[in-house]
Amino acid sequence: ACSCCGCISSNSPKGRAGLRIREWSCPECGVTHDRDVNAAKNILALGHERLAAGILVL
Ligand SMILES: [Zn+2]
Repeated sequence: ACSCCGCISSNSPKGRAGLRIREWSCPECGVTHDRDVNAAKNILALGHERLAAGILVL
């Protein structure tokens, strides 16, 4: 998924075949992503969501 706009594009790297693709561009927002950096941003965003949810529960 794009860490910028959140869209899951058809040309984004997926699975084992996708591991050879180091960079890809999002067709929605036009941003070029390094796949590792993009994945890190996605994980970070998920962590923040969980943190926000935890605070709301408290
Ligand atoms: Zn995007």
